Amino acid sequence: MTSTPPAQPLALPIAYLNGEFVPVEEARISPLDRGFIFGDGIYEVIPIYDGRALRMREHLLRMQRSMDFLELRNPYPLDHWEEIIGELVSKNGGGNVSIYIQVTRGVAKRDFSPPQGLAPTVFMMANKLPTPSRELYENGISCISLDDFRWERCHVKSTSLLGAVLLKHEANQHHVDDCVLFRDGYLTESSSSNVCAIRKGVILCPPKDNLILPGITYDLMIELARRAGIPLEMRRVSRREVGIADELWLTSSTKEVIAITRLDGRPVGTGEHAGKPGPLFWKMFALFQDYKRSLPAAESTAKAAV
Ligand code: PMP
Repeated sequence: MTSTPPAQPLALPIAYLNGEFVPVEEARISPLDRGFIFGDGIYEVIPIYDGRALRMREHLLRMQRSMDFLELRNPYPLDHWEEIIGELVSKNGGGNVSIYIQVTRGVAKRDFSPPQGLAPTVFMMANKLPTPSRELYENGISCISLDDFRWERCHVKSTSLLGAVLLKHEANQHHVDDCVLFRDGYLTESSSSNVCAIRKGVILCPPKDNLILPGITYDLMIELARRAGIPLEMRRVSRREVGIADELWLTSSTKEVIAITRLDGRPVGTGEHAGKPGPLFWKMFALFQDYKRSLPAAESTAKAAV
């Protein structure tokens, strides 16, 4: 473990556990919780900018789909989720935060078969939302290519994340920020973000199948590109195409859209933009920041109750 990043501070002080707001360090769950024993649960991360949620409804609907996949009963209706998220944000002082939600199947005697009728465990915490710095936008990040050995249900936002943990660790050991994953010679995503390639002015996006998480930021990026008339193809992207891409982008709720400027020790792109975020990146950056500024008006699908 040569390049393990330093331990991060704990979450903001107030957490939510099964109906109660509690100091995060006092939140207790049973060691028999199936989330602890099996990783039998799902999670979500929702970014909130100055009290304005980015695509709250879409995050909650994706969470519902993850629960449906696990046949895990959603303990709350949508409105209640929005209410407690709003309360958690305000109890932690508002500002830019990311809300982490985890729902597990609950507490039971250790047995692989999921028992019926368990009360799900609901845990939520707030973390500071570390929006990327100007320097990060301007420099981009470095990645290595790795084989995607995760399971084949990557569209489910499951708390069983050992594959992602080991891949990210391998990237860190190579002193780079993250990884670009390939399965059977085709681009999938990164350890905790989506990835797309830009070639000759066209954004090439891996399809939203079972091999990637359907990112909310990915969807937003696609929507913004389409609205701005930037050509986009959603299709399998080969390793070769990634290797000769003019630009590579990474998207996630906490990183927004950032450029991958070095891959496997080589600069991404050619000519004056080699190793730097390219012109389409800056266009998307502007579209994304505009979108954030217009959040309350643009969020017609989210109640933005926070
Ligand atoms: N892919 C993976 C594997 C992820 O874990 C995430 C979330 N961190 C994403 C993509 C991005 O999803 P979102 O834009 O909804 O944060």
